[in-house]
Amino acid sequence: MQQGKIATDALVIGGGIAGLQAALDLADQGFRVLIVEREPSIGGKMIALSKVFPTLDCSSCICTPRMAAAAHHENISILTYCEVQQVDPAGDGFTARILKKPRYVDEVVCTGCRLCEYACPVNVAHEFEGELVARKAIYVPFSNAIPQVAMVDLDNCLLCGRCEKECPPGAIDFFQEPEEVTVEAGTVIIATGFEMTHMEAKPEYGLGRLRNVLNPLQVERLLAPHGPYGRVLRPSDGKVPDTIAYIQCAGSRDHTLGVPYCSRVCCMYAIKQAMLLSGSLPLVEVTIYYMDIRAFGKGFEQFYQNAKAMGIEFVKAKVAKITEDEQQNPVVRIEVIEEDGRVEERAHDMVVLSLGIVPAGHADGVLPASRAEDGFFLAAEPKLAPCRTDHEGVFVAGTAAGPKDIPDSIVEGGAAALEAAAHLRRNGRSPGRDMNARQESTQGTLAQQAN
Ligand SMILES: Cc1cc2nc3c(=O)[nH]c(=O)nc-3n(C[C@H](O)[C@H](O)[C@H](O)COP(=O)(O)OP(=O)(O)OC[C@H]3O[C@@H](n4cnc5c(N)ncnc54)[C@H](O)[C@@H]3O)c2cc1C
Repeated sequence: MQQGKIATDALVIGGGIAGLQAALDLADQGFRVLIVEREPSIGGKMIALSKVFPTLDCSSCICTPRMAAAAHHENISILTYCEVQQVDPAGDGFTARILKKPRYVDEVVCTGCRLCEYACPVNVAHEFEGELVARKAIYVPFSNAIPQVAMVDLDNCLLCGRCEKECPPGAIDFFQEPEEVTVEAGTVIIATGFEMTHMEAKPEYGLGRLRNVLNPLQVERLLAPHGPYGRVLRPSDGKVPDTIAYIQCAGSRDHTLGVPYCSRVCCMYAIKQAMLLSGSLPLVEVTIYYMDIRAFGKGFEQFYQNAKAMGIEFVKAKVAKITEDEQQNPVVRIEVIEEDGRVEERAHDMVVLSLGIVPAGHADGVLPASRAEDGFFLAAEPKLAPCRTDHEGVFVAGTAAGPKDIPDSIVEGGAAALEAAAHLRRNGRSPGRDMNARQESTQGTLAQQAN
């Protein structure tokens, strides 16, 4: 295995919006930052969303500039498609072992032209598009991925060599091997984000078994302008759906799934998606089955009231199970709470489970920070210093610390950067020379703009 070494001021684990914000804020102060991301592109979940509540801004329009700013920042280096194996304290800093997985494409040489993709004869379910369409066995992860570099999915590759023949700069290298990179850093920021609740323990909801029962990230892709079908169609037969239902708290506030807490964003993303669906399909009827609506943030209650005014139906009901009729319409069996627990079955063209948020990341012991009972990283002083973990010099930001929305994740990214900068300064690390250079260039740009 090849080996490499990197020395940096701060190691940021996770290149979602929280990690990007932390990295940018540290780098803007002149500290050198390394972002390690396990997926082939930075951007986290936000880059896959359609629009964001409560403003309905286009998500990729506001996330892509952040990704590009990090990628082009002189003080930020990025390693994608890398697994953090172990982080240990070393002196007044940390040593991290990182496994750089082979892409079988030379990142420096690849231009992202995609001619390899067009030549590849293999079709495989496309993870970024919620497995609703196919990708090739060699592919650029998505259209605004950073870096714009292809990678080979060796498990599905036929080794036919067509991509190699088509690649103009000769970037494909089937002999690439995993590389171990040792990182020495003065501080660590954990921004490993979240995953959606795993629903294997709830087979009665049909996720993964019934084709028209979707997870909410699949609907984000259906609603995205450059999404899988370019419009909203149901997956089983391409029909334009007339009725769509949302099941709230599917994967949150549920002890049987080990997720007893409220995931905080599901009510709002369901309402957002319901509004966007009503916008793209004017005749669609959207029903939200819920226990409580938790619209706790700034402008959120108004957003909820707007959805009601648009005609979205809110039914206070418990969902027992979801089956399917002969036309593959999901049939929802509900107990209507407001009508003395009357049991009903209602068929819809599509059902979306508003899944909860569970922590992503590592096995215990990989990072020098403890987790709380719910699996999220523990804040040592949740009230006064929510980004500090129980290990000095290790900070946490975004959904790695608990469910939250994008603005809160960004605020925490900034707070973690401030804490990390103070820690570096206390340990005698001062920002590099680049800061002055950048400040001058920023002032130059501002002066130009002012003129
Ligand atoms: C369906 C849905 C819709 C939503 N809509 C909205 C909305 O409209 N508005 C809003 O404000 N919020 C919304 N949210 C919430 C929003 O997605 C999150 O607040 C935000 O993405 C959190 O960012 P993050 O950086 O903490 O985590 P993530 O986006 O999860 O990023 C974490 C990154 O860390 C990487 N990572 C994980 N483990 C490792 C590891 N071991 N090593 C290296 N890298 C690792 C991951 O690959 C990922 O790139 C929505 C959430 C969902 C599920």
